Amino acid sequence: MSSAFTSMTVAELQSALQDGATAAGVTEAYLDRIAAEDDALGSYLHVDPEAALARARDIDSAGTAGTGLSGVPVALKDVVVTEGVPTTSGSRILEGWKPPYDATVAARLKTAGTVLLGKTNMDEFAMGSSTENSAYRVTRNPWDPERIPGGSSGGSSAAVAGGLSPWAIGTDTGGSIRQPAALTGLVGHKPTYGSVSRYGLIAFSSSLDQAGPMARTVLDAALLHEAIGGHDPLDSTSIDAPMPVLAECARRGAEGDLSGLRIGVVRELGGEGHADGYEPGVLSRVAEAVALLESMGAEVREISCPAFDLALPAYYLIAPSEASSNLARFDGVRYGLRVGDDGQRELDEVMALTREQGFGAEVKRRIILGTYALSSGYYEAYYGQAQKVRTLISRNFSAAFDDVDVLVSPTTPTVAFPIGARVDDPVAMYAADLCTLPASLAGVPAISVPCGLSDGLPVGLQIMAPALADDRCYQVAAALEAAQDAARGSRFLDQLPVQTVEGLR
Ligand code: GLN
Repeated sequence: MSSAFTSMTVAELQSALQDGATAAGVTEAYLDRIAAEDDALGSYLHVDPEAALARARDIDSAGTAGTGLSGVPVALKDVVVTEGVPTTSGSRILEGWKPPYDATVAARLKTAGTVLLGKTNMDEFAMGSSTENSAYRVTRNPWDPERIPGGSSGGSSAAVAGGLSPWAIGTDTGGSIRQPAALTGLVGHKPTYGSVSRYGLIAFSSSLDQAGPMARTVLDAALLHEAIGGHDPLDSTSIDAPMPVLAECARRGAEGDLSGLRIGVVRELGGEGHADGYEPGVLSRVAEAVALLESMGAEVREISCPAFDLALPAYYLIAPSEASSNLARFDGVRYGLRVGDDGQRELDEVMALTREQGFGAEVKRRIILGTYALSSGYYEAYYGQAQKVRTLISRNFSAAFDDVDVLVSPTTPTVAFPIGARVDDPVAMYAADLCTLPASLAGVPAISVPCGLSDGLPVGLQIMAPALADDRCYQVAAALEAAQDAARGSRFLDQLPVQTVEGLR
């Protein structure tokens, strides 16, 4: 099914709605496309067409469509709790659970008048880099259906790149917004830790988890971020500071003047002596993007952040440790699945059976790893050491930001890999996060913006900024997006599968 609406940016959809298009018409276009394509693409776990249409009609009756985000459809990663709407976090253990409340992110989007299209597929409890750890279905990359769409927010990335939603919410603990965005040609931003509420996100690693926007353009990502961000008293780690103005920054960035901006290229992320495992095509696109930023007046230098070399082992101790505590709540008593409750068995036996059947292999691996790292006698050697590395990484960032305004790197070392290629090799899977982990551990904002293709597949440039300087990420990303489009003579957006792939139209 083809519709002009499904290939528009959100900024264009807003104009269409202001010019008389109806929220129901826009919603229907997306629902038609989901019906036609999603059996093959696998981007959604739950879609309720009647509910979406009813909501859109209500907005049309109220006459608000086109005001702000009113009437614009949205998809939410299934880790975001939605009142009365099934929420599984990609796990069997939550199958059938209908939450009694909305996450703050979901509530704010509702208040803004968006229409929920559905909940998107993800790696179970957001643990993974390919969405292959979902307990429910495989998600394909719309650029090449034999490849993964990234993860863990791979349902969101596939849906937006394939035109099954104009934009989507993802979550990022170690890269799960930025990496899938990079692998599907989208813009994805991980906000400063604490600047978007975690209330109602099913917790994976609470000191790292952050929700953020995935969109087809930098401006759209900024608009979505503005709708969900800002202080929330329901999240104890929420920062009580004014939100930086983001959409305005994206618009200003697109004007392309970067004079005075100092950019640091991180040596440890693909630079000399650190390029093992990085594809040459990825490094070339990134180098070209940096040269383009320089041509707009930015001053570029290489920056060394030695502790970044230890980000991967540190993350894979800290995140599983926190997960082993967070996931203890899934006991077969309070939510979702319960196995073996026949009135005869002891409670702990029912819990064990429920967890045995309810959790997938990767989740069990993380719980075991995390429990071990926190156990008495090993705590200092593993968890304690990892926390020290985390501190060193933060110090590397602080020192770097004394000298430069932003740091850049590839978003991920390779383009999208084939489905199945890394499922039996967890360490190879973890390597997809090499570039995204430092910003996660330090809590600083980072955006991934498309910077061209390698072998016909998208490459992302990561731009990292100091805490609370999310606006800088958007400004530089918008400058790059505009300059690349101008050099190409066409919008990158027009190369997305939603526009070009047969069957995905
Ligand atoms: N791929 C990383 C992991 O498996 C990061 C996941 C995420 O950011 N949610 O932990």
